[in-house]
Amino acid sequence: MEVVSEFINIRKNQANLLVHLATCADLADAFNDSYEPGIYVSVNGEELKKVSADAKVSEIADLSGAKAVQAGYEYYTPQECETSVGELNPANGVIRVLTEKNCIVDDAAKKLLADRAQSCGKCVFCREGLIQLEYMQTETTQGRGKMEFLDLTKEIGEAMCYSTPCSMGQQSARIALSAMAKFASEYEAHIKKKNCPAGVCQAFVMIYIDPTVCTGCGDCMDVCPKDCIEGKPKFIHMIDEFECDRCGKCVEACEEECIHITTGKVPKLPDRLTKVGKFKKKRH
Ligand code: SF4
Ligand code: SF4
Ligand code: SF4
Repeated sequence: MEVVSEFINIRKNQANLLVHLATCADLADAFNDSYEPGIYVSVNGEELKKVSADAKVSEIADLSGAKAVQAGYEYYTPQECETSVGELNPANGVIRVLTEKNCIVDDAAKKLLADRAQSCGKCVFCREGLIQLEYMQTETTQGRGKMEFLDLTKEIGEAMCYSTPCSMGQQSARIALSAMAKFASEYEAHIKKKNCPAGVCQAFVMIYIDPTVCTGCGDCMDVCPKDCIEGKPKFIHMIDEFECDRCGKCVEACEEECIHITTGKVPKLPDRLTKVGKFKKKRH
């Protein structure tokens, strides 16, 4: 805000909101007895509410089971949320609690993709930086992450914070920077262990039919919208991993409960259609 005590060049100030000093004084008088300082926040998508800037984040949001908290354009650990809302200063008023069921890398990738759509693209650091940051997070969620992405994300993110003229570029960078700095173990799990701890990233989620239990009834084939289950009556059915989108419809349809979606180890499976009951014998 700037107080100007000379003639105003209206044309030069077209982009600014000009308010007469008398109006400011009237507003100050009007709010004098009623105004209470505070911050408007929306917690987990709920309606906006005004909270004291001194309130701790842990007092206004239920942090039981929290893995991370997004406040404004940054991720925080639950421990950091013992501080006041005013200190975290969520610029857009958004507070979201993320649990073990949320994947930080996936969350950051989606936010960066949304920001790419919002960036006006005038500045090279914002335009190109966002493309690179989103690419690296998305590659990581799809099982193609590299450890060098961590250093690159830091380098590009810091350059964006420093070199972009508006908050869009700076805040987008903070999403990636804070996710990577505070939840490095999640990135390492995706890159080194090829595992998504939250079980969100589909590239790490396997689906298989237990060949020792399948009766070859065909119920799973009937409900599969991707037509990616192979089988015939009385033969052990098989799922085409690459075509399957893990919708889970076959899991619900299988009365034998032999279709499993897991991030863990997958047992040995038949590599061709095999008669029910014959799979075990084939292995010995
Ligand atoms: S930093 Fe702001 S002005 Fe520059 S490209 Fe991004 S949104 Fe546009
Ligand atoms: S529904 Fe279950 S038991 Fe029937 S064929 Fe499919 S996997 Fe096998
Ligand atoms: S999870 Fe969905 S797409 Fe995949 S095999 Fe089952 S029904 Fe088909």
